Amino acid sequence: MASGKKSDELVFLPLGGSGEIGMNFNAYGFGPAHDRQWIIVDCGVLFGRETSQPGVDVLMPDIRALTDNRENILGIVATHAHEDHIGAIAHLWPMLRCPVHATPFTARLITGKLEEAGLSGKVKVREVPVGGSLELGPFTLDFISITHSILEPNLLAIRTPLGVVAHTGDWKIDPDPLLGEVTDAAAMEKLGNEGVLALVCDSTNALVPGASGSESTVRESLTDLIGTLKGRVAVTGFASNVARLDSIAHAARVHGRQIALVGRSMQKMVQAARECGYLKDFPPVLDETEAMDLPARKALLLCTGSQGEPRAAMARIANDSHPNVHLTQGDTVIFSSRVIPGNELGIFDLQNALAARGIELLTAEDHFVHVSGHPCRDELAQMYRWIRPKLAVPVHGEIRHQVAHARLAREMQVPQALIPQNGHLIRLAPGRPELIDEVPSGRIHLDGRVLVAEGEGLAKGRRALAHAGLLVVSLVLDEKGRVVGEPAVLAEGMPEPVAEAVELAVEEQTRGNRHHDPDDLAEAVRRAARRAAHDAWGKKPVTRVLVTEV
Ligand SMILES: [Zn+2]
Ligand SMILES: [Zn+2]
Repeated sequence: MASGKKSDELVFLPLGGSGEIGMNFNAYGFGPAHDRQWIIVDCGVLFGRETSQPGVDVLMPDIRALTDNRENILGIVATHAHEDHIGAIAHLWPMLRCPVHATPFTARLITGKLEEAGLSGKVKVREVPVGGSLELGPFTLDFISITHSILEPNLLAIRTPLGVVAHTGDWKIDPDPLLGEVTDAAAMEKLGNEGVLALVCDSTNALVPGASGSESTVRESLTDLIGTLKGRVAVTGFASNVARLDSIAHAARVHGRQIALVGRSMQKMVQAARECGYLKDFPPVLDETEAMDLPARKALLLCTGSQGEPRAAMARIANDSHPNVHLTQGDTVIFSSRVIPGNELGIFDLQNALAARGIELLTAEDHFVHVSGHPCRDELAQMYRWIRPKLAVPVHGEIRHQVAHARLAREMQVPQALIPQNGHLIRLAPGRPELIDEVPSGRIHLDGRVLVAEGEGLAKGRRALAHAGLLVVSLVLDEKGRVVGEPAVLAEGMPEPVAEAVELAVEEQTRGNRHHDPDDLAEAVRRAARRAAHDAWGKKPVTRVLVTEV
């Protein structure tokens, strides 16, 4: 392998996914400091929380640190098709304008997203065969098959003239993933024998002992469980876990039930998997009405919305507002999924709505209906035995996960561990790896259809409005600076007596024949109105004063 120029460096720069689970965005740079060439590994989103980011569905990394030298970005490489790894491509591509590389199933889903964004003609999406390789400037990438909770997850062996990095993406060790490839242990071992500079690795389950378990055992359990049920069965889970969908279809067939797919993403995933040659034995799918016309014990519905998403199928079924699917007493809903932290309240509301209508609930809390897609501690240890890197770089986790992961790596005799945060520029080679710079990083909100930097505070402003409403006072001044007529007060989102108290305070503040400077008057009225609201109510609304001069 060529050794490269003397000033060449290999660097790692995460701009998302370090310190948080979601929004993965990792860049690797090669070359001298003033002229690095970059590849991007994954480009995902994080879902907004209604409480902290009201009205923001999706967050993504602020990548301006990288896009100043756009011509040096050689390509985006996607490890797998989960939203937290590919969901930002269509949004951020206009800033990146480089080709996108992925294995067929992932490429198919990325293409679908680009089509929806009206970018399909512009972006080159290049398919890499499963187990294939890719050359991008000084980087050669080998796609090594691994297992996860989606089709075609890959560990990337990233080769450069200064050495090899193993980037795991999301993974687990599932001895029987049901669909797709098993973890290529031989390739991992071979990679370890070559000598690996750094293992950049998933930290999601670094606090969980043992192993994550296999999809095949979930299939057995679901099949037994569905055999005991009498009425209609609706199963909700992650549409992207195609092996799970196949298991549920299998269970249905074993017990003489026919299936329907309820929710757009269920249909989309099954179609994408079929187009890529998977699900060859999947049973025929009925439409919703046909399934509802069957005797109850003959129907099984696969539904979106396991996380309580208000617009998804399960939420509409729970409040009986779905146009075609209606469940009643005697029917059962199985949540074949976990509760993603942050979604607890939405999920419990959903489950309560179902329970209130006499529908039986089976969840991962009380039945074996789900396994995680991420490596628990035994699996992480196995990965370190295979790869034996000089450096551990825990990513894809909150800091507590990254810290636990780094400790485990040291226990596995890894000489060094570095816990990166978004914006940390780490030199991996030459020499001992170290943090060499911190570049600007942060989050961008997709607010409606507009990308807005988190620092601009739009979501913060809306939180203030949600907490204490909006107070607007409108005043008219004549040419001598005297208040004309009655000031108008608009009080949105506060109890009636507050508006009355504010009206009195504003009147007091503007009474008389005094001459006013418009700016001073506006500020005095704003303060008086806010104080009056606080005295009457104990809360300070967002307050605005409009002064019109005639
Ligand atoms: Zn992920
Ligand atoms: Zn994933």
